[in-house]
Amino acid sequence: MAEWMEQFGNPSSVHSFGRAAAGALENAREQLRAATGLRSYRVVFTSGGTEANHLALHRFARLPPEGNRRRILLSAIEHPCVGKQAAWFRAAGFQVELIPVDSGGVIDLQWTLARLDTTVAAVAVMLANNETGVIQPVEEIARACAEINAHLHCDAVQAIGKMNVQWEELGADSISLSAHKFHGPRGVGALFYRSKPLAIFVGGAQETGIRAGTENVAGALAMTEALRLALEEAPETLPHQRLLRNRLEATLRTDISGLSVAGRGSPRLVNTSCLVLPEIDSDEAVMRLDRLGFAVSSGAACHAGVWEPSAVLLAMGLDHDRARRAIRVSIGRDTTTAQIDAFAEKLVSLCKLARNPATPLKPATTGAGH
Ligand code: PLP
Repeated sequence: MAEWMEQFGNPSSVHSFGRAAAGALENAREQLRAATGLRSYRVVFTSGGTEANHLALHRFARLPPEGNRRRILLSAIEHPCVGKQAAWFRAAGFQVELIPVDSGGVIDLQWTLARLDTTVAAVAVMLANNETGVIQPVEEIARACAEINAHLHCDAVQAIGKMNVQWEELGADSISLSAHKFHGPRGVGALFYRSKPLAIFVGGAQETGIRAGTENVAGALAMTEALRLALEEAPETLPHQRLLRNRLEATLRTDISGLSVAGRGSPRLVNTSCLVLPEIDSDEAVMRLDRLGFAVSSGAACHAGVWEPSAVLLAMGLDHDRARRAIRVSIGRDTTTAQIDAFAEKLVSLCKLARNPATPLKPATTGAGH
């Protein structure tokens, strides 16, 4: 990234600097396809997951239904950058149906399959949920969508780099990703697609006309390298994260009575733990943990600052009170056992304090953050 921040070539310029940038960008595109094995897909670079998710579904927000394909199915636990597009789909003339999830956070597959027929234009089901880490049966949905010729979009923003996937076999028509979820830079992402998406931005002919505007060359190259490394290192980093996640949950479930882990019995990403605390509100827990040097989030990090109970947890059947007491802990590639143990100790103290305000909090230890 540093190298390409120094080079000023605009990929649209015909001079040698421009051609070098264009070549590097095409090379990155090819490497993304090679790293994921998504050989039959094309790649468009975007500003992140939000834009990729919009681009994938934009035609349903802008163009009226074709023939009797008037229905769009969205899982009830999609990230808001997918879920909130429902209003646009309705305005364009579609009927939007929300796919329910069970108490473990998995979409109801039978419900969905029973509703898929040739009146369906598009379906969106994420691969792994951002709040619970619960993995969704995308492959089965993709097979059914292929039979009826409906577009299946899969938001893989949380999943990519954090689970083993045969991406080609997943069978989605479009797949989105975002670099900052796998140690790449913030503000860059990509969409893998099979049929050409409808452009959101018009103007220049960049990205074969799908996304007008000068490309973020350094960001795209950095994302590509970050993904290559994440996938290459996954056989080492994923078991490490699973071990720490299990260690954390085992300790907390023993030491904090009444604590539960949302989606614990379902297939989950190895790094995500959605803890429903017994007595302490999530915003207070997040603030207190922050003061102790630990960065966790309440609900989805993307919505931090605007507090409302998590729609994902409500969809899983939690009441408002419990949904308000959930924090999300994400374990990283570089997280250590000592950090996990220090975190568990502090969280146990916080919960004891909430239960019995006379119990003093232990002073924060330094250097055991995040
Ligand atoms: N989709 C999911 C599942 C996410 O978790 C996020 C962000 O956290 C996004 C989409 C949006 O990605 P970005 O912030 O790169 O726009």
